[in-house]
Amino acid sequence: MYKGVKHIFFDLDDTLWDFEKNSGIVLEQLFTEYNLSQKLKTDYNAFHSAYKETNLAFWSRYYKQQINKQYLRNNRFHETFKKFAYDNYEENLEITEQYLSRAPHGKHLKNGCLEVLDHLKPNYHLHIITNGFKEIQHIKMHNTGLKNYFKNIIISEEHNLTKPNPKIFRLAEKLANCNKEECVMIGDSLESDIEGALGAGWKAIWLTDRTDKKDIHQIQHLYQLKEFF
Ligand SMILES: [Mg+2]
Repeated sequence: MYKGVKHIFFDLDDTLWDFEKNSGIVLEQLFTEYNLSQKLKTDYNAFHSAYKETNLAFWSRYYKQQINKQYLRNNRFHETFKKFAYDNYEENLEITEQYLSRAPHGKHLKNGCLEVLDHLKPNYHLHIITNGFKEIQHIKMHNTGLKNYFKNIIISEEHNLTKPNPKIFRLAEKLANCNKEECVMIGDSLESDIEGALGAGWKAIWLTDRTDKKDIHQIQHLYQLKEFF
């Protein structure tokens, strides 16, 4: 099925680096340290869901270039607070600073991550394409030892291009010095990673709990990649 593939491109967040877990640990610490249960009159789980929803909406506006990086960072906690009728912009900035300094240092990787990369590395060129901020993504990869596995690490902010824009996939081919028939993208986002890669003429494998999209190759676990490569 993947005959001819020589270059394997991975997404970073929630594909290799366990964003959900690493971010959740820090959010829970901050929720406790800032006594948000009293201020927001809610529990951690409700706060976490509200934050995730706000964060997603902010990223979507960022991709559409409706807001910039600074706005995204400095307002997502504030917006979340407001959902619980709590308004404190200064405290939002403090929490933002704490969150940004702690979260990228998380070391949890998705199950099987290093084992699979060790299996692939001798026979394939491995690369990263990630939508994110350069200083943050570099810390994550440096601290977990991921960095050493990859030939090219393409971070959207450095090129002013984000997945699913086909231009970032063309750029990736150029940097890897290969053609689209040799490329497969592995990621957890249907829109950014999978539809982006397929739209650029690449192959794609979707890491997801879902199993309902018959026309897309879905895996539930990174270990499964060893069956195909
Ligand atoms: Mg991802």
